[in-house]
Amino acid sequence: MQFADRLNNVETSAIRELFKLLGKPGIISFAGGFPDPALFDVEGIRESTDAVLKNSPGPVLQYGATEGYQSLREGISTHMVSKGATVAPDGLIVTTGSQQALDLIGKTMISPGDKVIMEAPTFLATIQCFRLYGAQVIGAPIDANGVDVDKLEALIEEHKPKLVYLIPTFGNPSGAMLSLERRKRILEIAVRTQTLVVEDDPYGELFFDQAPPPSLLALSDSVPGSRDWLAHCGSFSKVLSPGLRVGWLIAPPALLSRATMCKQFSDAHTSNLTQATAAHYLTLNRLPTALKAVRSTYAERARVMAECLRRELGDAIAFEQPKGGMFFWARLTGANGKENNASEFAKRAIDKLVAFVPGAPFYAHDPDLTTLRLSFATADVAKIEEGIGRLGQAL
Ligand code: PMP
Repeated sequence: MQFADRLNNVETSAIRELFKLLGKPGIISFAGGFPDPALFDVEGIRESTDAVLKNSPGPVLQYGATEGYQSLREGISTHMVSKGATVAPDGLIVTTGSQQALDLIGKTMISPGDKVIMEAPTFLATIQCFRLYGAQVIGAPIDANGVDVDKLEALIEEHKPKLVYLIPTFGNPSGAMLSLERRKRILEIAVRTQTLVVEDDPYGELFFDQAPPPSLLALSDSVPGSRDWLAHCGSFSKVLSPGLRVGWLIAPPALLSRATMCKQFSDAHTSNLTQATAAHYLTLNRLPTALKAVRSTYAERARVMAECLRRELGDAIAFEQPKGGMFFWARLTGANGKENNASEFAKRAIDKLVAFVPGAPFYAHDPDLTTLRLSFATADVAKIEEGIGRLGQAL
C-alpha cells in the first residue's frame, strides 16, 4: 500500500519499543508520563457526571458546538482569570486534550519545509506532530532556567521560524522552569520579530513550595502587542484526569477561527459528556483541595527520589532538583568508569526490573546520549526507594 509522503518525516519512537517491555511482572516504572490514578478525585468526577446526566441529558449526549460546551468555556475562562490571564469564553476553544490543540496549531500554521524552533530537549509528541506537517525542527538550548533566550533570539533572527514552541513551566522532559525575566523577554522578542510563540502549559499547577512565575499568557497583558503573537495550550489532564481528554487552546482570533474549522473536520467536537462533567466539577470548588493533594504527594516523591538518587548513584548521576511537574531530567556523568550511555543503562535497568526513558528521543537533532528522564508521579515512596535501589545495582 502506498501511504502519504508525510509519514516519511516521522518514525515510531524508541520509547514505544521500551514501553512494550514495561508489562514484565514486578517491574517498577519511572518511564511513563502518567499522573497517579490514586490521586484522581473519583468522587467529585462521579458527582459531576451524575449531575450533568440528571440535569441536562439531552445536550450532553447530543452533538455540540465545535468551539466547546459553553459552560466549560466559561469555567475555563474563570479558571484562567484566577491565574492572572484575561481570557473571555469566546477567546478559547475546548480541545480533545492539549495534544489536539498542538495538532491544530500544526495543521493551521505549518506547511512542508517551514521551520519551527523548540527547546532541546522537548515533548516528543510535539516534535512528531509538527514533523507530520513537514516542519523542519530546530532545537534551542536550555538550562535550569529554561530556554536560553539570547540563543533563542539569535535562532529566530537566523531562521525566521513559523513558530516557537515552549513549555515554560516544569518542562517535559526537562522539569525546568523559565525565569520571569526570560518570560518577559520572550514576549518582547515575539512582538519585535513578529513570531508566533506557542506556550504549552499542562504542568503549571503542579508546583511544590512556591507558585511559578505567571504564564506567558498572563504576562502578555503587560507587553503591548504580544497577545497577537501568542497561543496557549492548557489541559486538565495532570490536575483532574487525562482520560476526560479535556484541554483548551487560546489564540489570536484569526488563528483560533482556523483551528476551529480544522477541528470541525477532525472530530466535530470534544465529548460533551466529559466537557460538561469538567464544567460541573469546576463549580464544586473541589479542584483546590485535589490540587493540594497532588502537589504535596509529588513534592514528597520528588524529595525522596532525589535523596535515593544521590545515595544510590552518587556522582555517577547529575540533575537539578525540580520545583514542580512530574520529572527528573538527569545526566549520567560516567564518573569512576560507570556507564554513561542512557540507552545501554536502560537495558540493564530493565534486567533489574526498573524502567526509565533515555533522553535521546526528546531531541529533534544531536541527542545528548547521557541524558534520561525519570517520572516521580506514578510510583509511591516505597516503590521509589526500591526502584532507585535497583537502578544503583544496574549501574
Ligand atoms: N504537552 C506536554 C508537554 C505533555 O507532557 C502532554 C502530556 N504528557 C501534553 C501536552 C498532552 O496532554 P493532554 O493531551 O493529555 O492534555
